[in-house]
Amino acid sequence: MNTRILVTGGAGFIGSAYVRTLLGPDGPKDLADGAGAVTVLDSLTYAGSLERLRAVRGHPGYTFVRGSVCDADLVDALAADHGQIVHFAAESHVDRSIEAASEFTRTNVLGTQTLLDAALRRGVRTFLQVSTDEVYGSLPHGAATEESPLAPNSPYAASKAAADLIALAHHRTHGLDVRVTRCSNNFGPHQHPEKLIPRFLTALLRGESVPVYGDGLQVRDWLHTQDHVRGLELVRTAGRAGEIYNIGGGTSLTNLELTHRLLALCGADPARIAHVTDRKGHDRRYAVDHTKISTELGYRPAADFGAALAETARWYRGNRAWWQPLLSAPAQGRRP
Ligand code: NAD
Repeated sequence: MNTRILVTGGAGFIGSAYVRTLLGPDGPKDLADGAGAVTVLDSLTYAGSLERLRAVRGHPGYTFVRGSVCDADLVDALAADHGQIVHFAAESHVDRSIEAASEFTRTNVLGTQTLLDAALRRGVRTFLQVSTDEVYGSLPHGAATEESPLAPNSPYAASKAAADLIALAHHRTHGLDVRVTRCSNNFGPHQHPEKLIPRFLTALLRGESVPVYGDGLQVRDWLHTQDHVRGLELVRTAGRAGEIYNIGGGTSLTNLELTHRLLALCGADPARIAHVTDRKGHDRRYAVDHTKISTELGYRPAADFGAALAETARWYRGNRAWWQPLLSAPAQGRRP
């Protein structure tokens, strides 16, 4: 069946990687030919950038619509024209949610509800909710499976957990084909320099120190964006309705271990580490078990972490013109 896919937040870090893959040479077979195959809906907040979509700009199957997932009329009109929705659009930075949470609730919760309403009304076949392992909260040991309880701690994580539950309720109540994915920390090119890896790389490339929160012993699992994109495609094309799939990268590091790797890649001295006051409510450890997507759908993270991190560092070294202006962008709010 030829599918038209509405990708929300497709001008963001992961959404744009997904769109570049859908419309690239190895794109899926079920995509509609030509016009209307992939529509990106993105409001272009400070985090959105059309530069990330430069590679697909002239593609006949690509359409860009600037607008919000909270705009019910716009979302309704778009849902009428698309068979599937892959929902990335979100406020995504934990630190910002600690400063001011209301935009997180508006976009992440009400925006998801607006999309679900339209999906139901317009008979959208599949709704893929892209979520995060942060909904499971901090785990002293072990790894979260899809059955683990939700225990989000930051306003960001709470807004994603709320959106996941609302989306799954639309499956149970209305029979909408909702699939939820929960991935670990993504890395790769084109990530906004507010996030840990690009923040540290861009600081090191400018000769500055790197601010490590607290003792730096917080543990995170790292997932290359392309592995995430592969996992999402497996779930979109072969996953089951009403199911949750964790997507992990298989590389677990403390923030301090990661920082030392970044220092080494930039030829910088460990003296550049500056320990700063810990983030409020900082989760100590995340870990996801991705056995379900592996056994059911054949997912395996393919990226070699060391090589992918080195390639990411090279990308930031070679693309200063992309990230430099983002460092001086307004701290909050939408672009004019
Ligand atoms: P991002 O911040 O880079 O991109 C978010 C995109 O959404 C931006 O292009 C922004 O303009 C757009 N957007 C924001 N509000 C919008 C609105 N109201 N209407 C339409 N568009 C809007 O985020 P990302 O890192 O690419 O994350 C994508 C998704 O993956 C998010 O849902 C996030 O919660 C989830 N996720 C990300 C990570 C990660 O490591 N980056 C990890 C787990 C889950």
